[in-house]
Amino acid sequence: MPKIAILHDDSGVADTAAACAARMKMDALRLDSPAALDEALAKGDVKAVVVDVVGRAGGGFELIEKLCTAAPEAAVLIVTGLDAKTAQSTERLARSKQFNVRVVRNDKFDEDTLKACLAEAPKDRTDITATNLQDSIEQNFLRVEYQPKVPFDPPSEPRYSVEALVRLRHPELGDVYPDQFISVAENSGLIQQLTDSVTRQVFADLAAWRAAGLHLVAAINVSPLLLNDNVWSTQFLERCEEFGVSPEDVTLEITESSMGAENSAALDVLTRLRLKGFTLSIDDFGTGFSSLANLYKLPFGELKLDKSFVMDLADSEEARALIETTASMARRIGLKVVAEGVETEQAFEQLRSFGCDYAQGYFISRPMTADRIPAFFEEWSRRAGSLTDRTQAVVAPSNSKIGVIQALLSEIIAAAPEADETLVIDPDASFPDPSLDPVHEVVRRIPSLVMKGKPLEALAACHEARLCLESKASSPTVADRLAQLERLLERELLAASPVDLDIEGGDPVRLIAGKPAVVGRGAAGGAVDIATNCRWFSRGERNLSVYARNGDWLVEDLGSTNGNLMNGVPLEAGQAELLPEGTSELRIGRDPDSCPPVALRLIRGKRDPDAVLARFTVDEAKIEKAAAEIRWSSWAEETRRRWIVLGSRITLGAAPDCALQADSATADSVAHIEYDEGGYWITPDGAGPAMIGGLAFHRRAPMPVNVQIEVGGVRFTACPPPPGASAASGKPRVPLVSSA
Ligand code: C2E
Ligand code: MG
Ligand code: MG
Repeated sequence: MPKIAILHDDSGVADTAAACAARMKMDALRLDSPAALDEALAKGDVKAVVVDVVGRAGGGFELIEKLCTAAPEAAVLIVTGLDAKTAQSTERLARSKQFNVRVVRNDKFDEDTLKACLAEAPKDRTDITATNLQDSIEQNFLRVEYQPKVPFDPPSEPRYSVEALVRLRHPELGDVYPDQFISVAENSGLIQQLTDSVTRQVFADLAAWRAAGLHLVAAINVSPLLLNDNVWSTQFLERCEEFGVSPEDVTLEITESSMGAENSAALDVLTRLRLKGFTLSIDDFGTGFSSLANLYKLPFGELKLDKSFVMDLADSEEARALIETTASMARRIGLKVVAEGVETEQAFEQLRSFGCDYAQGYFISRPMTADRIPAFFEEWSRRAGSLTDRTQAVVAPSNSKIGVIQALLSEIIAAAPEADETLVIDPDASFPDPSLDPVHEVVRRIPSLVMKGKPLEALAACHEARLCLESKASSPTVADRLAQLERLLERELLAASPVDLDIEGGDPVRLIAGKPAVVGRGAAGGAVDIATNCRWFSRGERNLSVYARNGDWLVEDLGSTNGNLMNGVPLEAGQAELLPEGTSELRIGRDPDSCPPVALRLIRGKRDPDAVLARFTVDEAKIEKAAAEIRWSSWAEETRRRWIVLGSRITLGAAPDCALQADSATADSVAHIEYDEGGYWITPDGAGPAMIGGLAFHRRAPMPVNVQIEVGGVRFTACPPPPGASAASGKPRVPLVSSA
């Protein structure tokens, strides 16, 4: 059975390790001394070792070296009480020596860590000799792969870059990666030949991409050894000329290690290259000992933060501080900052927020062959648009309020990493979170309002947030999400047609839209919109209809028993007649001299040509006598009522030619009411906001039912008509409630 050797002072750690071993069907060897450990390793079959580097059983870094030499196949897991920084540098040091070592702190040690450690197989190392390498260069076994380097915030016309990374594709040894042969090349004098081979491939690929319409910048890695004289640089400049490559298309990456300002030969070569127009980049920044002040003196234009820091970002406060400070200082001395080793979206967003300029890493793409580069950038340009506002990962389902809300919340939290998340998502938190910007402070209130079933309040908050955003011209994704949520809330609030407007101090009005309005006597099953109980009128479906077509208003007799006259002219059944502007009167009968004392008045005002106002008028003296005979007891009430048949929009105001005239209005026009998307909307018109349910709306808002609305001195409530009042509409009389 495979074994796990455990030598640890902390019995808790030892117990956990032993329990894990049992679950993984491995033999746990609990050892009590370094000598016992040596003995166990000598016997073989040890798959993992759990130890500490400090304490009684610890043996410092020497222990790690000893373990890795004695059992190179074993995974070494150091579980320690060391501080995070020391733990991390220990791991970094071990890994730099290609040891399969993990360092975890006591409190983070669990079965998963042990499994992960075991899963990491020791790297297959191929030993490349100088002879192998020389043959490989000569036989063209060197291949260049490219890894994209993309700007965090894509400018309007991005110049994308790629880094050239060499590989050795050997027919017998297989694929060999640079960490196994660059040092061989450097130590055997082959590095110039290798770099030249890479340069030629890169230049040929640049030309091929350019021919395909892609103008890229390529970064080439240059060993510091090549800067000790100008042999390589002369050759390199000749290559540029040969391939017609201009210096703006090339970045030269030089590792930090040997770049002291005191290296005068290198300074000379670098300065000459810089003056020619090449961008110089300092690679693996943070692993050597150069100071930013040193960098300032050298002609570098770019700094590449080493991937070991970038990859530690999520777990290490120190890595975060180092990156943040370096990025800010680099920017101030005019260096562009590239973060390499960006493996997650979280890291990408964080690095962007630190002000880094370019990102490179597996999150964007792994290195790839030259032919795949054009398709990659085409795809990236699309992906970058949505990443720009950090929510690529949280794509909200467009039809779900909850989805949008989740996206909004994660946006706020991502935008303000220091925000108190509990406060952000606390539905009852009514006090501000000072770490949030004003837009997010408003946005923060929205989810809880939606969850509490307060769509109107949520919509008002969306409007407020969008107003803030417009002045800032930032966060396009937040704005998009808000717009998405607004659509859902609006649909939930929208009053469907028809609707009764109960205006304070005014006559009742019913709005009818989206269909022809049928005028007639209501009866069981009779489809009537403008209804009367007056028996002189024929039943609904056989009386009159008023409707709009191509911008004209038409009136049609639907086959009434007694016939109808419009402005004294008989209407022919089934034949639509144009309704003229101004006031028209429809009377019953065929002879203008013997009409009953009732008329339907239809008004097309100048201000609202898109609507027809209808009301019944009577000759009161005559009607009182006839009312009993025709059993029309409700005539007084019916003649007070108004109907507005509208196409798309009417005006509410004091002017007499408004379709919705109200004496209390403070201006000729105080608002517009629109019929759109199957419901009614209100837009204030310069006389202050529309107060809907006490909330101020400065722009178009849905008109909800049974909520008091006040605008420009007019106060009213929109109510669904009582049941049976308008069977003609054939539509639900309750507001459209979205199922979301
Ligand atoms: P480098 O210049 O720092 O290149 C970045 C290395 O990080 C590449 O490894 C790349 O594959 C790897 N990498 C990129 N993104 C990620 C990530 O998100 N996660 C992780 N874990 N790794 C990532 P590669 O190709 O093995 O190259 C290693 C080093 O070899 C390079 O480091 C560079 O210093 C050297 N090298 C590569 N090509 C050449 C060359 O043509 N000439 C010279 N002198 N050195 C080269
Ligand atoms: Mg590099
Ligand atoms: Mg690097």
